[in-house]
Amino acid sequence: MPAHPTPETQAITDLARLRETVAAWRAAGDRVVLVPTMGALHRGHLALIAHARTLGERVVASIFVNPTQFGPSEDFARYPRDAASDLALLAQAGTDAAWMPEAAAMYPPGFSSRIEVGGLTEGLCGAFRPGHFSGVATVVTKLLNQVRPDAALFGEKDFQQLQVIRRAVADLDLDVAIHGMPTIREADGLALSSRNRYLAPAERATAPKLHAVLSDIAAQARDGGETAPAIARGIAALEAAGFAVQYLAVCDAATLAPLARVDGPARVLAAAYLGKTRLIDNVAV
Ligand code: AMP
Repeated sequence: MPAHPTPETQAITDLARLRETVAAWRAAGDRVVLVPTMGALHRGHLALIAHARTLGERVVASIFVNPTQFGPSEDFARYPRDAASDLALLAQAGTDAAWMPEAAAMYPPGFSSRIEVGGLTEGLCGAFRPGHFSGVATVVTKLLNQVRPDAALFGEKDFQQLQVIRRAVADLDLDVAIHGMPTIREADGLALSSRNRYLAPAERATAPKLHAVLSDIAAQARDGGETAPAIARGIAALEAAGFAVQYLAVCDAATLAPLARVDGPARVLAAAYLGKTRLIDNVAV
């Protein structure tokens, strides 16, 4: 038995009940913070919850594997789902409620609306995952409208997603503060991800190379030289290690436009397959 009883996390699946619960907290003067997730929780998600607790009195984590952000040949059906383990982790982390809507309630027959964010979504993951960021922007807008939090937290692990959400929130005048959180990594540098559990042991041993290569390119870009040669060497090193690289780019940190040279805040970003598993990562320059 734990020395202190683990506090309960209410699992809520009904929108009316979610709204009643949040309304009661607000009436008591509590600030509400939302952490959207797709479940299969790991220490990266829990770091977001821990920071959320410093921003408000009440923390809601949503768990929803959003079908509209997966392409037809992507891993929606096999995406890891483990509600019991997720709820136990959320309780230990001090989460007040888990918002776990059903897909049929999120997207009932006749559902016809989408949020499209231009510009930022065209390159990087957007070029390889058509419709992905529209699915993300739509579901995040719905989650924000459902919970109506004072603040919402997202990881820099999904850096393009974070920028797309910031853009949508600003463009649509959504009244919520968006916070980006640094990427939590394994000791060998691999960014924690729910998809890491797909990696076979040999792939898991290779996977930290992605972060190592991005860090090398960031160090070279920092010196202000041309980015193209460093990127070419990085792609060659990843391909030699067994990755199939989708993109590797040095981009402006705000616009995500590719940079020939770095002269301000920038980010090195990549997506690459190891076997059947698609890994993404990014580091600051
Ligand atoms: P997901 O469940 O993968 O949709 O992720 C939910 C949230 O957790 C997103 O805002 C992610 O960016 C964030 N996240 C995922 N992995 C990490 C990580 N390793 N470190 C920090 N945040 C993360």
